[in-house]
Amino acid sequence: MRIILLGAPGAGKGTVAKLLTELDGSVQISTGDILRAAVKEGTSLGKEAKQHMDRGDLVPDALIMKMMEVRLQNDAGKKGFILDGFPRTIPQAEALRDLLKNLKIRLDFVVNLEVPKEVILDRLTTRRTCSNPDCQEIYNIKSNPPTADGKCKKCGSIVIQREDETEDAIINRLETYDKKTALLIGFYEEEGLLKNFLSINSKETVEAIKKSLL
Ligand code: AMP
Repeated sequence: MRIILLGAPGAGKGTVAKLLTELDGSVQISTGDILRAAVKEGTSLGKEAKQHMDRGDLVPDALIMKMMEVRLQNDAGKKGFILDGFPRTIPQAEALRDLLKNLKIRLDFVVNLEVPKEVILDRLTTRRTCSNPDCQEIYNIKSNPPTADGKCKKCGSIVIQREDETEDAIINRLETYDKKTALLIGFYEEEGLLKNFLSINSKETVEAIKKSLL
């Protein structure tokens, strides 16, 4: 499959993307995961990105496009892909449209995950993430906690609260979403690619997406 996942922070894009990869071996391409790995490795991209990410601001479009052009040229032609967290702005969506056109790749559709604000806020403040950049397993202190001593059940690394998941950063990320990323819903509606899915339970959402792919 070749799809884009849209949705506010905390809408469950990461979880839905992972479940979708299990359906047909398509790869998940998450700009957030790529950036966090770059921060951890201390690359020049990571250093530049970190200041924006810690505040809950978007990383500049030029940096994101440089990173994604390489990634899509390498991956997108070979396998299906699920874009998770990209594009996030209209300039990114326009650049992606041109890039896919050049690579002669057509999207199946764009999935917009609709989740009530209260559910999003609750999810974001209770979310924890494995600190190992190669794992990044997501936990929830209420519904899916890590081990009793705060370790990842998959790889044993420490499970942390991300710096951009403090209350101030969360408020800023949600505002940024409303100001910049929500505009993409209109963009893809005009392109005739948008499909909305009410998403409370990720497994049910994936079933619904699977049906629309048939
Ligand atoms: P995420 O894990 O997708 O919520 O991304 C975490 C952070 O990485 C965001 O709050 C942004 O600072 C940055 N980020 C991820 N994807 C993008 C993107 N497509 N454009 C700009 N910034 C991004």
